[in-house]
Amino acid sequence: MNETNTSPWAAQTGGRRPRVAVVGGGFAGINAAMELGKLAVDVTLIDRRNHHTFQPLLYQVALAVLSPAQIAQPIRGILKNFNNTQVLMDEVTGIDSSEHELQLASGTTIQYDYLILATGATHSYFGHEEWAKSAPGLKSIEDALEIRRRVLLAFELAERHMLEHGWHPPLNFVVIGGGPTGVELAGAISDIARLYLRHDFRKIQPSEARVLLVEGSPRVLATFPEDLSEKALKQLKDIGVEVWNNKQVTEVGPGYVKVGDERVEAAVILWAAGVAASPLGRMLGAPVSKRGTVIVDRFLNPTDMPEVFVCGDLAYFEQDGHPVPGVAQPAMQMGRHAARMIAADLAGKPRTGFRYFDKGDMATIGRLAAVAKIEWPFKAHWGGFMAWITWSVIHIYFLIGFRNRLQLFWSWTWTFFTFTDSARLITGDQRLPGWEDATHGSAHDPENPVPGQIPGVEPVGMAAAEARQRR
Ligand SMILES: Cc1cc2nc3c(=O)[nH]c(=O)nc-3n(C[C@H](O)[C@H](O)[C@H](O)COP(=O)(O)OP(=O)(O)OC[C@H]3O[C@@H](n4cnc5c(N)ncnc54)[C@H](O)[C@@H]3O)c2cc1C
Repeated sequence: MNETNTSPWAAQTGGRRPRVAVVGGGFAGINAAMELGKLAVDVTLIDRRNHHTFQPLLYQVALAVLSPAQIAQPIRGILKNFNNTQVLMDEVTGIDSSEHELQLASGTTIQYDYLILATGATHSYFGHEEWAKSAPGLKSIEDALEIRRRVLLAFELAERHMLEHGWHPPLNFVVIGGGPTGVELAGAISDIARLYLRHDFRKIQPSEARVLLVEGSPRVLATFPEDLSEKALKQLKDIGVEVWNNKQVTEVGPGYVKVGDERVEAAVILWAAGVAASPLGRMLGAPVSKRGTVIVDRFLNPTDMPEVFVCGDLAYFEQDGHPVPGVAQPAMQMGRHAARMIAADLAGKPRTGFRYFDKGDMATIGRLAAVAKIEWPFKAHWGGFMAWITWSVIHIYFLIGFRNRLQLFWSWTWTFFTFTDSARLITGDQRLPGWEDATHGSAHDPENPVPGQIPGVEPVGMAAAEARQRR
């Protein structure tokens, strides 16, 4: 490998091997590190988690179809064959870009000649961070497990309450945000309620659960072509999801959502409405967009920082007058491009501009339904079963690790034919926000019916005795 730094941007290393710090082991960071592993550089990859998460399948962990280990891989394991790469599990808390230094939560500092910053995005509650407690978002394995806990617990608590009191609060599931994640979550909850749980309860009817998807803009999947939004809407309706378009959520609290002025009681509320860039973007000291993404030039460098590359969801990169979307493909391509530009520096070659190669976009809508906008190798818009097959094959292909691919294929085949999900476990707290308030009604007062009371069902247990006394 030629180590002479004749490129005008090459980091000044005084003859030693350049030190490259990669922050973030997501799609961008892992792809950068795998490319850097082939170069004569010393790489340190820092991530606050020990694993890389395949976020497009997180909703399947949240809805009990898959287990966490099926969609996550230890970063150390992924990079174990690259001897020039050190993996550190730590959180970057500060960046001194003039000193080329990273501060880590553990107190350690890391010096770099090149920095690849790829810390992605986080949830945004549009200034209402207090809503997060009542309406968790989906970004990490921890989030997925919390959502799984809440969704499954809602059915369990309803069964228990039905047994004891003869009624249960409404099994309403409200998903806020009609982008791909919201659509996938709503579709998957509907699948659970209608298909996977239908024979498992004795007192409640899971299929009577109401799944509501609230979207502020006129259509779901607003970043997809209009015909695919319409197909998605139809497919959602076919599986019983109620879609409220053009509706703004004005308040979220324990067990309820206010949509405009209307209050909707909810056993579970999920947030899929907004993302904000990782706070590290602002720490760099370079110009950022309104959302906090770092504005990068055609080489993926922030202004006046040729030794820094910002990639993936954290980067604001415009191509043909439009920002490149915050999805997995651009993140992977940016990560690889940044590493290749470092290779170009080492070889004394000029850097080349990044160009996003768009192969298309997809979203699934429950079992057997999806929409797909194919851009390569041919252009097409698909909806329904064909789109779902395409989605499934592509997700198996892009998952890291042969074992995971095999397990994913097996889990989906099993779920497909048996109508059972394999990871239906509730762990942790056995309470739901707002559930206690929702159950403080008098189910047995015919003058004052409780929402969610199932007509014709007599109270049983303690409540029945109480009801008889009151009569
Ligand atoms: C639920 C969900 C579903 C999605 N579905 C799709 C889909 O179907 N198709 C698609 O193309 N895209 C999808 N996306 C988007 C896609 O996952 C992202 O665009 C992609 O993950 C961005 O990659 P990234 O490397 O920029 O960031 P990420 O993959 O988010 O990785 C960022 C990494 O940085 C680490 N990190 C963050 N802050 C720090 C810190 N301070 N110190 C150390 N480490 C840190 C994190 O732990 C993480 O590992 C989905 C996203 C979500 C959340």
